[in-house]
Formats: sequence, structure tokens, C-alpha cells
Amino acid sequence: MKRFLTPRNILILVVVVVAFFVIKNQLRTTPEVLVTGSKGGECPVHGIRLRLDTVPIVVQLNEPDSLTAAQARATFPLSNDSFYILQWFKDDEHKNLSKAEVWYCSACREAKII
Ligand SMILES: [Zn+2]
Repeated sequence: MKRFLTPRNILILVVVVVAFFVIKNQLRTTPEVLVTGSKGGECPVHGIRLRLDTVPIVVQLNEPDSLTAAQARATFPLSNDSFYILQWFKDDEHKNLSKAEVWYCSACREAKII
């Protein structure tokens, strides 16, 4: 074992490890999960701590009517079972996205189902 741990071999090992991570980083495709940057906290309706989840990204073709939207904001504002966007991404960086990271309230999700 001592014969293997020469400074030359340690240097070669470090170079190989660094090269591995550099190549791995360059071969990496665009991430499939959109990190929205939203922060956790508590649900303003239910007062419970939000949880992090990964949900599908959905293009919302039609806006919900104002009554439905107002009811949703009042009863389950943070169900966040999908991440809605108005149109799909046009840039190459986001073309492989299918999911988004969101914070949600479990009580809101239950309220939305009922
Ligand atoms: Zn809630």
C-alpha cells in the first residue's frame, strides 16, 4: 500500500478525479426539473408548514374565471399540484423541462380534492 501512495500516484488520482467531474459537468444535459426559487414558510389559510415537491409543468390555455380563482385563493391557495405557465419555454436551456420544484400545503391539496 505504501508503494502505491507515492506523490506521483496521488497527483494522477487527483487529476483523474477532477477530469471526471469536469467531463461529467460538460456532458450533463439541461436539468429536467425547474427550480422556481420560491421559498417555504406557512400556509396563510391553514397555518401549517409548507413542504417541497416536484410537480408537472402545465401550460394553462385558459384563465379560470374570477369566481373560481377567488374561491381557490380563499380555500386552497397553496395546493400547487401543478406548475402553470402561460406558454412553453422557447429557449434551449429549458426545452427538456417537464417538472418544477414547488412548495405546497398538504391541507390545501386535501381541500382542493374535496
Ligand atoms: Zn393550506
